[in-house]
Amino acid sequence: MKKVIVVGGGLAGVEAAFALAKLGAEVILYEMRPFKTTPAHKTSYLAELVCSNSLKSESPDTASGLLKAEMKMLGSLVIHAAYKFRVPAGKALAVDRERFSQYITSVIESMEKIQVVREEITFIPSERPCIIATGPLTSDSLSESIKAFFGEENLSFYDAISPIVDGETIDYSRTFWADRYGKPGEGDYLNCPMTEEEYERFYKELLNAECVEFREFEAPRFFEGCMPIEELARRGRETLLFGPMRPVGLIDPKTGKTPFAVVQLRKEDKEGKMFNIVGFQTKMKWPEQRRVFRLIPGLEKAEFLRYGSIHRNTYLNSPRVLLPTLQTKKDEKLFFAGQITGVEGYLESASTGIIAGINAFRVLLDMPALVPPAETMIGSLLRYITDSSLKDFQPMNANFGLLPPLKDKVKDRKKKRFLLYKRAVESMEAWIKENNLEVLRYGMDQGDFKQG
Ligand SMILES: Cc1cc2nc3c(=O)[nH]c(=O)nc-3n(C[C@H](O)[C@H](O)[C@H](O)COP(=O)(O)OP(=O)(O)OC[C@H]3O[C@@H](n4cnc5c(N)ncnc54)[C@H](O)[C@@H]3O)c2cc1C
Repeated sequence: MKKVIVVGGGLAGVEAAFALAKLGAEVILYEMRPFKTTPAHKTSYLAELVCSNSLKSESPDTASGLLKAEMKMLGSLVIHAAYKFRVPAGKALAVDRERFSQYITSVIESMEKIQVVREEITFIPSERPCIIATGPLTSDSLSESIKAFFGEENLSFYDAISPIVDGETIDYSRTFWADRYGKPGEGDYLNCPMTEEEYERFYKELLNAECVEFREFEAPRFFEGCMPIEELARRGRETLLFGPMRPVGLIDPKTGKTPFAVVQLRKEDKEGKMFNIVGFQTKMKWPEQRRVFRLIPGLEKAEFLRYGSIHRNTYLNSPRVLLPTLQTKKDEKLFFAGQITGVEGYLESASTGIIAGINAFRVLLDMPALVPPAETMIGSLLRYITDSSLKDFQPMNANFGLLPPLKDKVKDRKKKRFLLYKRAVESMEAWIKENNLEVLRYGMDQGDFKQG
């Protein structure tokens, strides 16, 4: 049988290699560390956690709790190692990072079917199937090769993410629909109008908010084209009024007047379950975003499905270049996985590795590639990042807003999430059975990693 090439021994790469080996494929896993490193990695271990040691909540009423449950069902090595080396952190699954990565490295290196090669891959390999999982800090030469393959416009080196608000938590009585210079009351944008007084208060809090520091390799000079909202505010009181909060061309149907300032929200999905706060990319800390953005009229009780951020981040324009199976549109035997596909977060990255592994194996056997059902968190995330109707693609984390709505409306938030969780887990289980993927989780609880 031909070998599968996996490039990058991070969270996605190890999951892909592990799934492939369990299914029965031979794998060559290339990792450039320790010979060459990234600006964030510190060790030579595979699956190093580059920043926080938290894999977020494991509670079933959270998106990350659901993602963990689905990954566990798919025999995730990352989840297995996380439970083995967890440290107390309330409802969050936090790990002893050193032992976590050390353990994953030893498991991967001990697998007969996986050959780990410590070498930088400087261009897209010609062997197939091949999975590229080189992460947000992919080395320069490989980035150049990826850029040449897809075209310059399809690879970004920074993300500038605006927060996303849960559509059900917006107070629509305080907002109005309208496009700039369009008919008041009609249009694609939901506008949150502000009086001068409201603007002054918002502006003051924006200036006072606590922010996350840029890392050394994330020099702010790179971000002129996507300035954080608080940095724009620091340029002067009027800057936002001529920038993302400009009210021109908008008339509030309630007053018949142009408001003093406006915050515009744009639907992230057809149903309006998720709204993007347009132009509000930010480096504010998460609790500060919640505090300050709740001062926006209509968002007083808003829940945030994704917080804003700005990072050094190499990622593809996946809606243009990838299929939801993680195959590239140009070559169906070439896959991408991990943060480079435009998912955001440790577990999101790792989970796409499992799917790329499953699909590379299927391609090896001339079987069609698969996507988990839309009702699952992984399936909905893959559909989102490859949704060709998305115009301004920004990386996305797991959240309940991605899932298709329940058939019957459920008002109680906790109950609704419980039902979404139950539906997701059931459909993942059915999908696993239907496609004979149970082998992925055999022996996982005992740490008995039999290869197919
Ligand atoms: C600075 C920083 C902090 C982050 N903090 C968090 C956080 O706290 N929580 C969170 O959920 N997410 C965080 N993320 C986002 C993301 O979840 C992680 O980056 C995650 O590790 C991505 O997994 P991955 O497998 O896609 O990439 P990685 O884990 O980065 O793995 C990619 C691997 O590929 C290797 N590689 C790169 N180029 C080559 C090449 N040419 N040849 C061979 N090997 C190569 C790298 O050495 C690396 O081991 C952070 C990202 C960054 C950049």
